[in-house]
Amino acid sequence: MTIHKMILTQCAVCATELGLSLGKKCGRCSTRYCGPECQVQHWKEGGHDNLCKLIKKAGGAEQYNANTKYAEAVAVATEACADDTRGQTCYICTQALHWKTKEGLVRMCACRGTAGFAHVSCLAEQAKILVAEAEEDNWDDDRFMPRWRRWYMCSLCEQHYHGVVLCALGWACWKTYVGRPEGDPARRNAMTGLGNGLGLAGHNEDALTVKEAELATLRRLGGSERNMLVVQSNLADTYAKLGRKEEALRLRRDVYSGYLKLLGEEDEDTLIAAINYVASLGELERFGEAKSLLRKIMPVAPHVLGESHETTLRMRQSYAAALYNDPGATLDDLREAATTLEDPERIARRVLGVAHPMTVGIGEALRAVRATLGRRETPGSAYSLQRRRHN
Ligand SMILES: [Zn+2]
Ligand SMILES: [Zn+2]
Ligand SMILES: [Zn+2]
Ligand SMILES: [Zn+2]
Repeated sequence: MTIHKMILTQCAVCATELGLSLGKKCGRCSTRYCGPECQVQHWKEGGHDNLCKLIKKAGGAEQYNANTKYAEAVAVATEACADDTRGQTCYICTQALHWKTKEGLVRMCACRGTAGFAHVSCLAEQAKILVAEAEEDNWDDDRFMPRWRRWYMCSLCEQHYHGVVLCALGWACWKTYVGRPEGDPARRNAMTGLGNGLGLAGHNEDALTVKEAELATLRRLGGSERNMLVVQSNLADTYAKLGRKEEALRLRRDVYSGYLKLLGEEDEDTLIAAINYVASLGELERFGEAKSLLRKIMPVAPHVLGESHETTLRMRQSYAAALYNDPGATLDDLREAATTLEDPERIARRVLGVAHPMTVGIGEALRAVRATLGRRETPGSAYSLQRRRHN
């Protein structure tokens, strides 16, 4: 029997983590349990005696879960968009209510006018048909991927669909391809999309389950080194969001050394991986390591990418942060942090514009550092008085 890699990795009754293959499954519908006791309880008291047939008919526990989660996610998305979509119609089916599901509309991207409204079901149906065409004709990756993007990106304004809509489409995509063999490219892409959608909708615990499953699948079935690093990096972001700092750090260190080996130190992906690794070091207040790594690699970024590249700016920003966030920062450290931020601040204003999040972030950091410096440099301020008393 092949064990299909699941995203349902817990006992249906007591939620014990079962990983890929522990525990036992219902012989009919594949619902998973830690053992016979939970299975019996589920049958007698948990309503499984009624549900089992339904789940089997839907295609098994994994498919049933996808269908259920999809319906829930559509309800959440239409509810969240209700104010925006009042009086509008779907640009695909031209109706306000979906003819079959009776679901409401979502506002999913930046498109103006009628093109910005649709039913999640219509978006999903459209993506499914477009991808099926490309699969039938065996398109290569370059032609296939633009089709695949219809699962998560608007074809008109090229914007990613926003959080709750992306989450609903993630489930739509997963429920469309979950029944295929594990190695199937669409199924693997669907898993990536579901993980991202869940994360962007703020369901980080669920995103973690999916992303861990994705990495395990990739390890087992094989994939390019590059692909592995991307998946690991996504997973690390989820750990970081969940506050699991040590795990995020370990993974980001692996990803950084992976890129270093694969692409060398002069590649943008390597530099971005370094910035992420440094962010994790900072989270754990390991400022010394963060600073020494950045001192080593900071000169590389402007040399490879140019002075005004976003990654160059981010790297300087990280270095300044490592300097001023350190509770033991000296006046010289603070002065160096201010100097480090001055150029990037000016460049970001000019290149990215004043409203860009990075410009705003650098500006705020620079003001904070200057304010701290001001307090500590001025004799008679609360801080220096305190220091004098200690001395
Ligand atoms: Zn159990
Ligand atoms: Zn069953
Ligand atoms: Zn529609
Ligand atoms: Zn659009």
